Amino acid sequence: MGREKLICPVCGKPFYKGQGVIIDFSGRVLIFHSKNCAIKFIRSFITYVDPSEVRKATNETLKEFSERLEALKKIREKKLT
Ligand SMILES: [Zn+2]
Repeated sequence: MGREKLICPVCGKPFYKGQGVIIDFSGRVLIFHSKNCAIKFIRSFITYVDPSEVRKATNETLKEFSERLEALKKIREKKLT
């Protein structure tokens, strides 16, 4: 079984399947060769999405991470006491 080669959709660099950053855009899975290329893509992607949707999604995402940080904090506090 040969290793499948992929082309980064942002910079055009070839890389092997299994490497890179995978992002699922509502069923359309894109694989970027590096985190930098994934960030570049997402920065551009955001400009094509309805601004009110972007604001809503930003708030939801911030909420998700803030809840995660809160949970981590609680675990750490439990360990200390
Ligand atoms: Zn790339």
